[in-house]
Amino acid sequence: MTISRRNFLIGTGTAALVAPGIAGMARGRDMVEFGSQREPSLWSSEITALPSQPQYQGNRSVDLAVVGGGFTGLACAYYAKRLRPDWSVVVLDSHKLGSGASSRNSGAVAPRYVGIDDPDMPHRGLKRLQSFIETEQVDCEFLPATNLRVLPTKSEGDQARVSLLPGESWIAPEELRDRAGTSYYAGGAVEDAKNYKVHPAKLVEGHIKAALRMGVELYEDSPVLDIKSAKPALLSTPGGEMVAKNVCIATNAYTPRLGFLNYKMFPLHQYTFATRKLRATEVQKLGLDRWDIRFEDVMLPVTFRLMPTGHFFVRMVLGYASHNSCDWQDVEGAKRLAMRLFEQRYPDIADIGLVHGWHGVTGHTPLLQPIAGPIGDGNIHVSVAYNGLGIMPGHNNGYLTACNIVGHADQDLRYLTGDKGLMPFPGDFYRSLMLKPFMSLMTPV
Ligand SMILES: Cc1cc2nc3c(=O)[nH]c(=O)nc-3n(C[C@H](O)[C@H](O)[C@H](O)COP(=O)(O)OP(=O)(O)OC[C@H]3O[C@@H](n4cnc5c(N)ncnc54)[C@H](O)[C@@H]3O)c2cc1C
Repeated sequence: MTISRRNFLIGTGTAALVAPGIAGMARGRDMVEFGSQREPSLWSSEITALPSQPQYQGNRSVDLAVVGGGFTGLACAYYAKRLRPDWSVVVLDSHKLGSGASSRNSGAVAPRYVGIDDPDMPHRGLKRLQSFIETEQVDCEFLPATNLRVLPTKSEGDQARVSLLPGESWIAPEELRDRAGTSYYAGGAVEDAKNYKVHPAKLVEGHIKAALRMGVELYEDSPVLDIKSAKPALLSTPGGEMVAKNVCIATNAYTPRLGFLNYKMFPLHQYTFATRKLRATEVQKLGLDRWDIRFEDVMLPVTFRLMPTGHFFVRMVLGYASHNSCDWQDVEGAKRLAMRLFEQRYPDIADIGLVHGWHGVTGHTPLLQPIAGPIGDGNIHVSVAYNGLGIMPGHNNGYLTACNIVGHADQDLRYLTGDKGLMPFPGDFYRSLMLKPFMSLMTPV
């Protein structure tokens, strides 16, 4: 079978789900977005910029082409080259390497895979990431973390209180008021000591350096515009074509624009806004020296975090943009929302101002399962849709995908089932109709 980005969509029945008359319009706009600069996150601004990598030019053949250079793609390339040093392995990114979600997240790392029930598998994934950080001596402030799951209503608090897991403890609303600087959470909070935190941009840097040391070729500003799935596959870029025996698609939220899995996943937009550096007295007053990561357990989750450099930020979900676009226009609207969140939760610092803001996109599926495994002819592999929790799963899935491609055994390869069994999701007309109002209603203010 030969599939291209277009007939892959049609061949899976998506056409029936796309609203009549809209399909052509959506198709016209449904292209890879490239050529624009992505403003760096505050995390990335804090580290010395890495030397740029070249743009891909020419026509050549490789053993493995990885599309997308975030945690997933860089880890896949690194492990593939480690397992098969004789292979030519390249990573092509449409922008700067790591400039997608990997350098824009909140840096909370949990032994958790959204959508996978096996309790041990996430721990194996976490060990893999820890071992990578140690082996490659990545200085990324990877540390144990005690998180707070803060609960806005009393009934959520009552429920959480009777279902505490090992390692969790209960914090009453009064204690939160006195020791965490907020009286917003009528349900109190659950303190969870089993987690980790990381500096995302430093972890990206570690992945890039490790991949280079391993002998992976890295290309930036080299968008893959089309993938023709055949054996070998053919990748088109503005600088030329690439014939690849194997392909790993690691483009997460950007995947539908590449023309793959449009019928199974969708991008969601997020914004993060950070304050100036807090003074030591402010940190203490807000209890951030004890609880520096706080999650609001609501339909569209909100995260607060104190960065190691002293900036305090709020991250919130904004919504869906038509045609699976990964650009978001209304930055001022996002900032107003962030201000309201601060005013409600932390009125004592509401006038502090939000000095740094950055946008990001996450890849989602309706029932929160990740998508990883071969699709099409079997030589095209994907690993996407982490549903907002992909630092460790991205790295570990990169490893598993590499094992699958080079033929290296691992007990967790059984989780690489591709997109089988995943619920189809309607085309742009209906997803705009459903997701946009849903997001507005669920916005937690
Ligand atoms: C605001 C925010 C907060 C988050 N917080 C957390 C958190 O606290 N903990 C957690 O575990 N996870 C968190 N996440 C999710 C996590 O960041 C992602 O799951 C993870 O980074 C996914 O890595 P990735 O490599 O799969 O995708 P990405 O990092 O998005 O990489 C995809 C890459 O593909 C490239 N690309 C796209 N299209 C093309 C193309 N056509 N050709 C070539 N290259 C292309 C992009 O430029 C990008 O570099 C958060 C995400 C966001 C946005």
